[in-house]
Amino acid sequence: MNYPLQHPIRNYDPVELRRLDVAHHLPAQADYGVIRDMGGSRIVTRAEGCSFWDIDGKEYLDGMAGLWCVGVGYGRTELAEVAYRQMLELPYYNTFFKTANVPAVELAAKLAGIIGGDLQHIFFNSSGSEAVDTMFRLVRYYWKLKGEPWRNIFIARRNGYHGSTVAGASLGGMSAMHAIGMLPVAGIEHVMQPYHFGEGFGEDVEAFCNRAVQDIEDRILAVGPHNVAAFVGEPIQGAGGVIIPPESYWPKVEALCRKYGILMVCDEVINGFGRTGTWFGHTTYGVKPDIITMAKQLSSGYAPISATAVSSEIVEVLREKGGDFVHGFTYSGHPVACAVALANLAIIEREGLVERTGTDTGPYLAQALKRLEGHPLVGEVRSKGLLGAVEIVAEPGTNKRFGGKEGKAGPIVRDACIENGLMVRGIRDSIVMCPPLIISHEQIDRMVDTIAKSLEDAWPKLKAIV
Ligand SMILES: *Cc1c(COP(=O)(O)O)cnc(C)c1O
Repeated sequence: MNYPLQHPIRNYDPVELRRLDVAHHLPAQADYGVIRDMGGSRIVTRAEGCSFWDIDGKEYLDGMAGLWCVGVGYGRTELAEVAYRQMLELPYYNTFFKTANVPAVELAAKLAGIIGGDLQHIFFNSSGSEAVDTMFRLVRYYWKLKGEPWRNIFIARRNGYHGSTVAGASLGGMSAMHAIGMLPVAGIEHVMQPYHFGEGFGEDVEAFCNRAVQDIEDRILAVGPHNVAAFVGEPIQGAGGVIIPPESYWPKVEALCRKYGILMVCDEVINGFGRTGTWFGHTTYGVKPDIITMAKQLSSGYAPISATAVSSEIVEVLREKGGDFVHGFTYSGHPVACAVALANLAIIEREGLVERTGTDTGPYLAQALKRLEGHPLVGEVRSKGLLGAVEIVAEPGTNKRFGGKEGKAGPIVRDACIENGLMVRGIRDSIVMCPPLIISHEQIDRMVDTIAKSLEDAWPKLKAIV
C-alpha cells in the first residue's frame, strides 16, 4: 500500500471549529441538542490504512470502514491521482439526453462483467438512496409497460435499511425513520425480518426460517399476488444490526418470488464488493435477483457513486414498449466518480480482497469473535465475511436486555469502545463491525480485544440501567 509521503499540516483551531460546527453545521443522523450540549461534533482530520485521527490527535482503529464503505482503506494515492487526472480531462458532463462519457461506459461494462449472469445493464447515481429510488421508479414503470399497472406494491422487511430519501426511508423498516413524518409512502408492506436471536430465540433455525418466509407469503396473499411488484431486501441487513439470515432463507424467498412472478431485488449497498466473502451477498446465498443496488464499497467512499443493475428482460421491455425513462440526476454517471470506482475495483481485484475476505480474514474474524462467546454480557456473536455483531444481554444464556428494553446497553458499550480507540456502532444492543477489507489479523485481534475490554469498562454503567 502506498500512502502519501506527507499529510498536509494545517493549523486547526479545535475550539473554534467546534463552535462553528454548533453555530452553522447540521451533521447527518444526529440529535442537534446533544451536539450543542457536547460543544460540537467529533471532528475527523485525517486517515491512513485502517485508522483515522480526530482533531485532538487521537487515533481510532476504524471498525466500521467509515460508514461500511472504505473497503480498500484510507490513503490510496492511486485513487487521488485518478480523480485528479479525470478532473483535468473532463471534470463533469451529464448523461441526460443521449449522452455518455468514457468512465461511465467503462465502469458499466466492468460491473456487468463482475456481476455476470443476466444483470448486464447499469444505471449510475451518487448515493445508495438514489440507487434504491431508481429501482423503485423503474420497477413500477416496468410493470406499467407490461400492462399490469396494478402491480405496484413493494414488500420489504421491518428493520431493513434502504437509505434516507422518501422512497428509501419508506422501503426501509426503521420505525424511528418513519416516525419523523408521515412515512412510509403508500404501496409498501413490511414483513418479518430473519433475525433469529431477536425474534426466534431458542427456536429451531429451520422452523424459524420457514416462519419468516411464510410471513412474506401470507402478505403476498393478503394484498393479492397480482398486485405485488417486487420483494426488496439486503442479503444481510447492515444498518439493522448485521442480521445474518438462516442459510436457506434467500433460496426460499427466491422460490416464492418465482412462484408469484414477483421481481426480486437485492440491496447490495453494504454486502457488495467482497464484504460477505464473495463479490455480492446474493452470490454468497446463491440466488439470482432481477435487480441489485450498489454503492459504498463501489468506490470505497473516495467518491460518491452508486449503481443499479437491471436484468436484460427489464431493459428489453423498456426498449420495446417505453418512451423516455423520465428519471435521472445531474450527477448520474459522474465521470470523476466513475473513474475512481474503476480504479477502486482494480485495487480490489489486484489485491484479491474478495477471496481474502472469504477464505482468510473473514474466517479469522469469526474465530476471534468466539473468544467473546463465554462472556456473561454476550448473548451471541455472529459474522459473515467481514461483517460482525456482538449481542449484549442482561443474563447469560438468554436474549434478555438491560432495562427490559432493546437499545439501552448498546450505546454504552459503543461509547466505551470509542473511548478505547475503536470505532464501532451500537445498533440497539448489538456492537457491530464492518472493518476495511485490508484489515490484518493483528488488527482483527485488536478490534475483538478492545470490545472485550470495553465490555468490562461498561459493566458498572450497564448494571446501573433500570
Ligand atoms: C447505506 C445504505 C443505503 C443508502 O446509501 P446512501 O449512500 O447513504 O444513500 C441503501 N441501502 C443500504 C443497504 C445501505 O446500507
